[in-house]
Amino acid sequence: MALLDGKIALITGGSRGIGAALVRAFHGAGAKVAFTYRSSAGPAEALVGELGENVRAYQSDASDYAGAEQLIKTVTEEMGGLNVLVNNAGITRDTLMLRMNEEQWDSVLDNNLKSVFNLTKHAMRGMMRGGGSIINMSSIVGIQGNAGQANYAASKAGIIGFSKSIAKEMGSRNLRCNVIAPGFIETDMTDELPEQVKQSYLATIPLKRLGRPEEIADACIFLASDMSSYVNGQVLSVDGGLS
Ligand code: NAP
Repeated sequence: MALLDGKIALITGGSRGIGAALVRAFHGAGAKVAFTYRSSAGPAEALVGELGENVRAYQSDASDYAGAEQLIKTVTEEMGGLNVLVNNAGITRDTLMLRMNEEQWDSVLDNNLKSVFNLTKHAMRGMMRGGGSIINMSSIVGIQGNAGQANYAASKAGIIGFSKSIAKEMGSRNLRCNVIAPGFIETDMTDELPEQVKQSYLATIPLKRLGRPEEIADACIFLASDMSSYVNGQVLSVDGGLS
């Protein structure tokens, strides 16, 4: 029996990067998978075409409260329930604080933190019935901070406080909530970094390489599965030893 047999999962931001690796891995582990994207319909459709049965894509902006409510309703009806929610969608708008404007602050907080509230708020009532697992994607930057990422760090630190609170509120309903804090993972997000910055990160990572999206997916499968049935309110760093 595969680790996620019988589970129905929703993954936000599944069209690219870590999210796409999660979709593939959850599908491979036996789950029925719904995933969202905001604008990249082409890669989303290609992923559904690649995996076929039991995988569906939904265009939905995670920062939109009403849109999240509609999404949860549609996914629950079309997939037949919901056991696992992975709040993975996220963006960066990096700049030093002296230059940061209100739009750069608001867009990162809305897409990275308000999105987690939106999806969790609308999903938790249904997930309470059969028990379930919520996994929220933070970052090592939310724990340690990073120059040029005050907005991103604040959003990712907020996810940790939020998740620990939900774990305490919902534990008695057998609804667990945990956090993954990736280090530097090879995706479009880190591709944008200047080569010099990448090299300076590499020098500080004990494993001397960036992580692969599949390595984040493996940790998420653990937290989604019954293998982690007594793990609640935790932050699991997957960062090659950086933290
Ligand atoms: P990515 O390659 O840039 O992909 C981001 C994904 O999120 C895309 O599928 C994108 O959809 C989706 N998305 C963004 N905003 C959205 C919204 N408002 N509603 C719905 N979908 C939205 O990013 P990634 O590197 O895979 O990162 C995934 C998560 O891991 C993020 O939360 C990120 O902060 C976190 N993380 C990444 C790293 C890293 O090193 N890569 C490290 C630590 C944490 P579209 O394709 O439609 O734009």
